[in-house]
Amino acid sequence: MKIGKVFSMEDAKKVTHPAYPYMLPEMLPYSESDAYSFLRGAVDMHLHGGPTGWMPHRPSMLETSREASVAGMRALVFKDHYYMTSPVARVIQECLEAWCREKGLTPVEVFGGVTLNYAVGGLNPVAVKTALKGDFKQKTKVIWMPSIDSDLTRRAANLGPGITVLDNGRLKKEAREIVEAVASSDSKVAIETSHLYFEEIVALAEECEKQAVDLVVTHANQELTLLTVEEARELISRKAWIQLAVISMLGTPIAAPGWVVNYHHSMKLLNSLDTDRIILATDAGQTGAKPVEYMKYGVWSLLSRDVSPDIVRKIVSENPKKVLGLR
Ligand SMILES: [Zn+2]
Repeated sequence: MKIGKVFSMEDAKKVTHPAYPYMLPEMLPYSESDAYSFLRGAVDMHLHGGPTGWMPHRPSMLETSREASVAGMRALVFKDHYYMTSPVARVIQECLEAWCREKGLTPVEVFGGVTLNYAVGGLNPVAVKTALKGDFKQKTKVIWMPSIDSDLTRRAANLGPGITVLDNGRLKKEAREIVEAVASSDSKVAIETSHLYFEEIVALAEECEKQAVDLVVTHANQELTLLTVEEARELISRKAWIQLAVISMLGTPIAAPGWVVNYHHSMKLLNSLDTDRIILATDAGQTGAKPVEYMKYGVWSLLSRDVSPDIVRKIVSENPKKVLGLR
């Protein structure tokens, strides 16, 4: 019997076993500072922060960017559900330059993008074209499909219908225009799926492949958008990237206490798929979930479960740099 999409009654019994922590194999001897050292050159291409319109007391984007600079991270891409973060990224970058100069640090490169929810007109090609012009262009790295206003999220939360990229099973004209706008930009920009149904992701992946745009499937390990290994393989065969979110492996206890996350399925995806197509991002930045710490814990957790240092480096540094066109 399945409880979620892949979580079985047997899995539930395993993790609710009174002796669960005492039955796990012994961890490999990696220390916290070993894990932290993997952040040098790392990229977090999906994280949140304040200020925002939902959930107060998030870690501020500026503070997170300072912490990422101290850790020697290469780049961050801030996502907000309501507004375009590209100009915010630009202002943060200016603040960082001065702060880092004083401290003798190299500033992390801060980017943003726009999420196509109702606040920007939904599936709105004008919002995308705006994010790709003028000063914004320099800081726009990701166009996110609808998240909180997607049909998938709204129906799952009993809020009625929401935004979909399909019309009678075919990609809407606006969605094609959005891919076109990204394809014709002279800067390297990726599209992320946010909260779409699998069928929507497949249609979008086909279009992105046709137009040579990088498509990243957002938190493939979160129950709402969970992919089976077979589904992930199908998307990889259409040139999509699979993003695993640290939050969906470790939970976010202040913002969502009691949330059951399927760590073991995340590991299964990581161990079954071609790691050349996997990206680890935190999706952190909820209240009480500091993104740089989550990156460290995510890396530490993988190293401790026998994921090789080379694979860790590939999914936190090399692969996201490829997608974002960074050196
Ligand atoms: Zn997110």
